[in-house]
Amino acid sequence: MTIETYTPEETRRAGEEIGKHAGAGEIFTLDGDLGAGKTVFTQGVAAGLGIREPVNSPTFTILQEYGGGRLPLYHFDVYRIEDIEEMEEIGYDDYFFGEGICLIEWAGRIWDILPEKRTEIRIDRDVEKGFDYRCITITETGGKTDA
Ligand code: ADP
Ligand code: MG
Repeated sequence: MTIETYTPEETRRAGEEIGKHAGAGEIFTLDGDLGAGKTVFTQGVAAGLGIREPVNSPTFTILQEYGGGRLPLYHFDVYRIEDIEEMEEIGYDDYFFGEGICLIEWAGRIWDILPEKRTEIRIDRDVEKGFDYRCITITETGGKTDA
């Protein structure tokens, strides 16, 4: 599925729809350049889950946990990760296979440890379509069992 947005608010709303419908244990990866809108999208997901706490991307924190919504949100930003061991140190699999939903910014950097069943979200710019244009591509991969 592809969604085109022309404002941050539209991207936030796309995230909100995901947050409204996501189920426990679901994993969403977010890739795209710096400033693409991964965090804006994540803020929408949090809102869709009913989380009121403000969501941002703290530069030196790999994982932020947000409660108070329909499900916990585990927000990873692995931009600065240098070794998969850093993920092991935080016990990532407790979150990947936990009660909440995982959203992973820069997931491409930890490709090797991502579960096969996940929803991949890519956010791309196209300068020809304007400074605030974004193309959001959502793809479900692996392990689909429902007919
Ligand atoms: P990332 O987390 O991918 O590095 P952010 O979400 O932090 O990016 O920042 C995206 C920036 O781009 C914000 O300043 C936002 O206002 C701006 N922006 C402009 N147009 C859009 C759009 N259509 N969707 C999302 N963000 C947009
Ligand atoms: Mg970000």
